[in-house]
Amino acid sequence: QPQAAEGKTFTIGTDTAFAPFDYADPNSGEITGIDIDMIRAVAEAEGFKVEIKPMGFQPAVTALDSGQVDGVIAGMSITPERKKTFDFSTPYYKSGIAMAVDQDSDIASFEDMKGKTAIAKNGSEGLTTGEELGKKYGFKMSSIEGSQALHDAVTSGQYAAVFDDLPVLQYAAAQGKGLKLVGDPKPAGDYGFAVKKGKNADLLAGFNSGLEKIKANGKYQSILDQYLKNPE
Ligand code: GLN
Repeated sequence: QPQAAEGKTFTIGTDTAFAPFDYADPNSGEITGIDIDMIRAVAEAEGFKVEIKPMGFQPAVTALDSGQVDGVIAGMSITPERKKTFDFSTPYYKSGIAMAVDQDSDIASFEDMKGKTAIAKNGSEGLTTGEELGKKYGFKMSSIEGSQALHDAVTSGQYAAVFDDLPVLQYAAAQGKGLKLVGDPKPAGDYGFAVKKGKNADLLAGFNSGLEKIKANGKYQSILDQYLKNPE
């Protein structure tokens, strides 16, 4: 009989700049976004507590691996490689990887990237996807920490393009952050909530059960609508 999550408190690592999934509210400075509202709603539905720790993506994944946090919610793509180290929840969001350039850039295709350098976030699927495309189209990849820094590195002209998650780039472009999407988006893993492999089975089961509940009662859809239909 597996132990239930009910009544327990879990520490959850997340990204710091991955709007609309995880980001600091511009007014309060508090971490907010789809992932954050979702896991709070899930915890409430299941009677457990979460302590959210905004860390950055790669730092959160490393903290999960070393047991410093119980779970990670960070628009984390479910990949075969990561499944060797982590157990994932039911997928909760479909994603993809896209390339974006400065809105005034002449780059209109992957071919136009020949001889140039693009940037992606440390440890991200955007980086691995960019590296594969770079081999094919003759451009280089570099990587840094943090989505905001990533996008700024392109609008400032430091890098020719950025590879990041499709919904994140679409959100940034729609908010007038000076980026435009170029080329066909590439398929990527769906997002899942992660725990360390073989650990925190109670938390994982609680997440899956709570996700079912908030999907059934409309709460999950209202969270998506709040961030995707009426962005601040
Ligand atoms: N979905 C991407 C990945 O898992 C990026 C996640 C993120 O930057 N927070 O690699």
